[in-house]
Amino acid sequence: MKIIGVGLNYVNHAKEFGGDVPKEPVIFLMPETALITRNLPFFYPDFSSQIEYEVELVVKISRLGKNIPEKFAHRYYEEIGIGIDFTARDLQRQAGAAGLPWTISKGFDGAAPIGTFVNKAELGDLNNISFSLEKNGQLVQQGNSADMLFSFDALIAYISRFFTIKIGDLIFTGTPSGVGPVKIGDNLVARIGDHELLNFNVR
Ligand code: ZN
Repeated sequence: MKIIGVGLNYVNHAKEFGGDVPKEPVIFLMPETALITRNLPFFYPDFSSQIEYEVELVVKISRLGKNIPEKFAHRYYEEIGIGIDFTARDLQRQAGAAGLPWTISKGFDGAAPIGTFVNKAELGDLNNISFSLEKNGQLVQQGNSADMLFSFDALIAYISRFFTIKIGDLIFTGTPSGVGPVKIGDNLVARIGDHELLNFNVR
């Protein structure tokens, strides 16, 4: 399976980075080894001193497809979850300044903790999913899928032009504003609505 990340999909986060709002989705890939499941801890890596959290809704692909029209994209996923797109911001900044890819800063081991998935039928309107992240009991990020520049279906249509999507692939759909640092000892809790789906520690 593969993990597809989407950058700058919320206007408020794009502005937080001083960037322009993208006209097409910004896509990157992470390897399977980036995943952390079952609320296992995230181990702070020795190659960065600026790991930041980004809470994101995650779409789990349930059907193989290529060149999927947006109006049919809803048939390609049944479950939505929540995850953290950990980013080594120091390495990302260095790479960006040199015009180099983000691969290491986004795809290192453990960079993608994911929680329990929820059937989309339980979520009602997929264009109105509220989600949040707490760090050490304090609310640090709050978002709603209504604020995405590119909807789940638009992302699937775009991504599948270039990459065949397969059962089990995951799409991290971008983060709202409020990203910030973690340190060893922190606890992160992510929710969709008031359902706690992810709860783990930084070690
Ligand atoms: Zn992200």
